[in-house]
Amino acid sequence: MTIADRLNDKTLFQTQSFINGAWVKGEGAVAVTNPSNDEVIAEIGDVGAAGARAAVDAAAAAFETWKKVSPFERAKLLMKWHALILENADDLGQLITLEMGKVLREAKGEVLYGASFIEWSAEEAKRIYGETIATPFPGTRGWTTHAPIGVVGCITPWNFPNAMITRKCAPALAAGCTMVIKPAPETPLSALALAELAKRAGIPDGVFNVVCGDAQEIGPVLTGSDAVKMVGFTGSTAVGKLLMRQAADGVKRVALELGGNAPFIVMDDADIEAAADGVVASKFRVSGQTCVSANRIIVQASVADKLVEALEKRVSALKAGDGFDGSTDVGPLIHHTAVERVDALVRNARDSGARIITGGKPMVDELGGSFYAPTLIEGGSADMDVACFEIFGPVASIYRVEDEAEAIAMANDTPYGLAAYLYTRDVSRVHRMTEALDYGMVGVNAPMVGAASTPFGGVKESGIGREGGKWGVEEFTELKYVLLGGVD
Ligand code: NAP
Repeated sequence: MTIADRLNDKTLFQTQSFINGAWVKGEGAVAVTNPSNDEVIAEIGDVGAAGARAAVDAAAAAFETWKKVSPFERAKLLMKWHALILENADDLGQLITLEMGKVLREAKGEVLYGASFIEWSAEEAKRIYGETIATPFPGTRGWTTHAPIGVVGCITPWNFPNAMITRKCAPALAAGCTMVIKPAPETPLSALALAELAKRAGIPDGVFNVVCGDAQEIGPVLTGSDAVKMVGFTGSTAVGKLLMRQAADGVKRVALELGGNAPFIVMDDADIEAAADGVVASKFRVSGQTCVSANRIIVQASVADKLVEALEKRVSALKAGDGFDGSTDVGPLIHHTAVERVDALVRNARDSGARIITGGKPMVDELGGSFYAPTLIEGGSADMDVACFEIFGPVASIYRVEDEAEAIAMANDTPYGLAAYLYTRDVSRVHRMTEALDYGMVGVNAPMVGAASTPFGGVKESGIGREGGKWGVEEFTELKYVLLGGVD
């Protein structure tokens, strides 16, 4: 049965959670709606703290056998999961568009991006190497191993309902850990579909669990249970701090992928047309609802008019609409309150003296309550809300600076440090400025930075830890040192 068949007869989505290899019903019915038209597409029950505890118990029991499964066998199972995801990529993409609204080609791109972490991690499972170490003690040998950390509790957001799960689960499972995942209530279906495919791939019961329900009930189980050894979270900085505080009691490892306030710097020697294309790609992808979206476009004054002109042409041509419509460039926001939030930011910018070049209003009458017009604004004060907070909407905001020093000072003037972008053709400048930027990732003449092979993550209040590449797998292991005496 394909995911689309499941969707049609609703068998998958009348159930709520996936615990120990079984579909488990919860209490009540939380509606999952299509943001494009507000239609209810599924109703999901809440398994609450009891369900979370059952999932943790199942994951703890499964860990005892999964950690002993050979990495070659774990890799094979992950590759089967990967193959099934690719086979069902069209359905999984549609599911993403249905539950969170992003345009279908972006949704399919997310499925492939998400799957690439499974493929990479499967390959990496066989290459989790320890080291031998010279010791100062005669007759001894020392070495290290990377042991799987254990049960991982994982809480994910709605903006990448598929990839934010695979980016954590694939390396965790490859390392020999087991998982309990609480997806965002807006987008549980992608998580449940991944669970269905994991089961079909033969991933043993209890290794991959999905619990849907109230975060206030489930969160404390994941952060408080002795059986959970690590909490992986992607979401807002405010919730990340809260989870870190909760996890501190058990001295649990945390991996936090949090919010951003990405500067997109365009210097006077940049290719301005390429920079304008880069701004549009970074800013308007997923309607601006990504943690690495360009949040502040910082341009050297001598080329600012040229950039503004190039952007005005592009942004005013963007078409907002339903994600299933092939001509749509920018889909809806996740819900009506997100539109109200973005509109409040733009009104605050206008009040602070910013000029609205194009857009600047909700599209309730034209398209419905979840749509906001692709917007370009310029000027205003450096401390207005749109400059200080994550916009998380299709609003590009431009700031003029005189030189490199001013660009760096403005870029770093934020508690966040996830992604930054720099457009320049001067190689010395690339070195000087990338070194000066307090960010975990810098895209130089490149508007997108993430890939399965590279380290994704932030500094400052944007998080702790890295996802992707060998670093992503290491996050889910404990380094163990062994000293053997009496050898010589
Ligand atoms: P959010 O409000 O922090 O929610 C994220 C997840 O945390 C949801 O599953 C949410 O469930 C859960 N949650 C909220 N309060 C909780 C609590 N007290 N205990 C346990 N879980 C709790 O973030 P969002 O609005 O969904 O996502 C947007 C944010 O994610 C942005 O700031 C964005 O930058 C960030 N993000 C970061 C990355 C990255 O890699 N750095 C990637 C994507 C997104 P409920 O909704 O049920 O409360």
